[in-house]
Amino acid sequence: MREFLGKSVYKGIALGPVMVLKKQDNLIRRKGIRDIDAEIKRVEDAILTAKEQLKKLYQKAVKEVGEANAAIFEVHQMMLEDSDYMESIHNIIQTEMVNAEFAVAKTEDNFSELFSNMDNEYFKARSADVKDISTRLIHILEGREENLMSGTKSSIIVADDLSPSETVQLEKEKILGFVMVHGSANSHTAILARIMNIPALVGVPLDLEKVYTGSMAVVDGFKGSFILEPEKEICELAEKKMAEEKEKRKLLESLKGLENITKDGRKIKVYANIGSVSDIGYVLENDADGIGLFRSEFLYLGRNDFPSEEEQFKAYKQVLQRMAGKEVIIRTLDIGADKQAEYFQLGKEENPAMGYRAIRICLKQPDIFKTQLRALFRAAVYGNLSVMYPMIIAKEEVEQIFHIVGEVKEELEKAQIPYQCPEQGIMVETPAAVMISDELAKLVDFFSIGTNDLTQYTLAIDRQNERLDSFYNPYHKAILKMIKMVVENAHKYGKWVGICGELGADLKLTEEFIRMGVDELSVAPSMVLKIRKVIREINLL
Ligand code: PEP
Ligand code: MG
Repeated sequence: MREFLGKSVYKGIALGPVMVLKKQDNLIRRKGIRDIDAEIKRVEDAILTAKEQLKKLYQKAVKEVGEANAAIFEVHQMMLEDSDYMESIHNIIQTEMVNAEFAVAKTEDNFSELFSNMDNEYFKARSADVKDISTRLIHILEGREENLMSGTKSSIIVADDLSPSETVQLEKEKILGFVMVHGSANSHTAILARIMNIPALVGVPLDLEKVYTGSMAVVDGFKGSFILEPEKEICELAEKKMAEEKEKRKLLESLKGLENITKDGRKIKVYANIGSVSDIGYVLENDADGIGLFRSEFLYLGRNDFPSEEEQFKAYKQVLQRMAGKEVIIRTLDIGADKQAEYFQLGKEENPAMGYRAIRICLKQPDIFKTQLRALFRAAVYGNLSVMYPMIIAKEEVEQIFHIVGEVKEELEKAQIPYQCPEQGIMVETPAAVMISDELAKLVDFFSIGTNDLTQYTLAIDRQNERLDSFYNPYHKAILKMIKMVVENAHKYGKWVGICGELGADLKLTEEFIRMGVDELSVAPSMVLKIRKVIREINLL
């Protein structure tokens, strides 16, 4: 038995097998070979295995995200049958007498460069696909396990750290908990754990070479401990705690169907935050009044090309229909900083959190923005949609957005495509937006305060940097004063204000927020009933 202590970012307790996800070492070594036929046979076997994997992935994706989104796995299967691609691999093995891994890597370089230099956008995008199929082949040749959880049992995910695009590839229903060697309390792994109501630890000093997939472990988010190969008594204790947690959850469940209302009659909207369509189950299960933040950028992550208007339309429509008339606030694309997608070609930046991200990309590349707006406005016909724009710092940006919105409406009208213009709000998550919130309030329908970024920018603390966790004080007076100021300015112009950052779920602050006049709290689904309980015990008189 070995115990490791880390920082708990979400409470809860889990017992189960470990699944270690390692960052792939992508160094391909060139090795000389003697038996050409044997090497070619290795490639052919790897192709068969790759096709098998892709077939399974296709079937899984059809069920989860529909045929249109799953089609990419069929395209990859076809690419593996391409005669030019195969011929190149064979030629390199034969003429250079080298190992199959090296021949695939060299073919990948040649083909992806060829594609990326083409003028046609479709062929340009195929460059990433060539990389994808080649990486798959190399991993099979190297005997690495597929970095997907298909077929595995429910597990505790152990990793160095997970990027948002890595988390989207995980099968959520098979995750019991997260244990990260690095990662800050505000990382997206932490946010995902809160959405899923599972324990999560960061900063656990593990040597991943000495942790094995399949070993049993306990994650205790109350104590911040991770116990590998626990003794029988520890397992029994964990099981007992899990049962107690279940009991507490049952008590909370009795609040389902009740209003979020203080003893003296103030009603608060308690909404849920989600990152993907599949999270709606958690929203409904926890009886949220609506969705206060759908981080739409997750639709853009973990893939090789932009999601089309049609794909987005289907996703938004599905959310609206499943929420059956309850309000759904979708935030437009907040890509950049820690949420990177290669095909955006954002390049390396010195300060990505202060860089080319979110609304800045949308205003500079209006085609990307317009595709999303068209999908949103078309979907709005199917439910109660509001949209909000991230990272606003100036009135002029809002005016520019409205100009683009006007063009989108005109285009839809002209093409006689049914649409509805939703209510439009902004995220208040920069100190600049706070300071001019009186002017901004005149322009928009509502504000949603993003305390994660607002804290980062106000305290000048990178929210991803785990070494700064001890300095990151979300209760800092500056933040609380700012929230108060935003609420007052919004109310002056009859606009409502919510909080959708993680601070909104802090039960120690619920009463203070309500006293300030906050109208809505949008929190992880698992926090909805806990907030309801606190609200119902508050008396403002
Ligand atoms: C925030 O900044 O508080 C927020 C809700 O947005 P995100 O965490 O996605 O940056
Ligand atoms: Mg933010």
